[in-house]
Amino acid sequence: MRLTRVRVPELPADLDSGPEVVLTGSEVRHLSVMRLETGDPLLVFDGRGREARAEVVALDGLRATLRLVEELPGTPETPQPVTLAVALLKGDKLSDVVRAATELGAARIQLLVTQHADVRDIGANKLGRLSRIAAEASKQSRRAVTPAVLPPIPLAALTWEGQAYVAHPYVHDLLAEQLHWDSPVTLITGPEGGFSEAEMEALLARGARGVVLGPRILRAETAPVALLGAIVATGV
Ligand code: SAM
Repeated sequence: MRLTRVRVPELPADLDSGPEVVLTGSEVRHLSVMRLETGDPLLVFDGRGREARAEVVALDGLRATLRLVEELPGTPETPQPVTLAVALLKGDKLSDVVRAATELGAARIQLLVTQHADVRDIGANKLGRLSRIAAEASKQSRRAVTPAVLPPIPLAALTWEGQAYVAHPYVHDLLAEQLHWDSPVTLITGPEGGFSEAEMEALLARGARGVVLGPRILRAETAPVALLGAIVATGV
């Protein structure tokens, strides 16, 4: 039987004594929709990599009390954290990117303001919505980690530790041939209008490596998914 899975704000360090957690808000609605009752088993995760088996102690429309029964190993993450640095996109396209990036294992999603971007800012409401989409996607994809969606910064302010790869249609190197799991990974993708020459030169001068995603031009919302897909296709 596939158990219902909810996110809790925090998991106590020690679960041996069967501690209880109280939930309010949308996760309680989710439990009610799934028709859970007192004594029913479920899974909980904290969005930071921990997961546990739990059971319902009490549930009404507003609050749920859950007893934590046993710590479980969370679904494995990539060997090194992968940050997706993605240019701001028009309309609701970032929602699809955030959802897919969460399913595909991104540890963080950094929004970028780039020279050719049509969108240069994002409101607090939209940022909150993207974070909720990431939380929902981690629940659905059985991840114990929910990637943070970080507010936009100028491309020039993007820093990284380890390796960085920038997707660009006019280079020849492939991600699979470059990537080594010996340090954190940052993947950078551009807006509908692409990166300017100056932006590409600056990224390459700072040590990022250009990678191509086949001979076709992908839409700005497809490229990040293809790049992360190239990673999961290696089996991590
Ligand atoms: N005319 C733009 C250009 O010349 O770069 C096309 C931009 S494309 C619609 C949006 C972004 O997707 C690009 O900045 C790049 O990061 C990524 N992208 C699209 N197709 C790609 C490909 N075949 N290889 C690598 N990256 C690609």
